[in-house]
Amino acid sequence: MKGTASHGKKSGKKNFVFCRRCGKRTFHVRKKKCSSCGYGASPRMRKYSWQVN
Ligand SMILES: [Zn+2]
Repeated sequence: MKGTASHGKKSGKKNFVFCRRCGKRTFHVRKKKCSSCGYGASPRMRKYSWQVN
């Protein structure tokens, strides 16, 4: 290995894939839920009162 080889163990497992609803890479594969829009968990968009758009 040469240069910055080990930046932690950030290789191998990937838990997040692209969400088909919001388009971000925030859909958790194992949880089957998007952490951005809530796709998979609820039919409605993930929304919080403290959320500022
Ligand atoms: Zn999403």
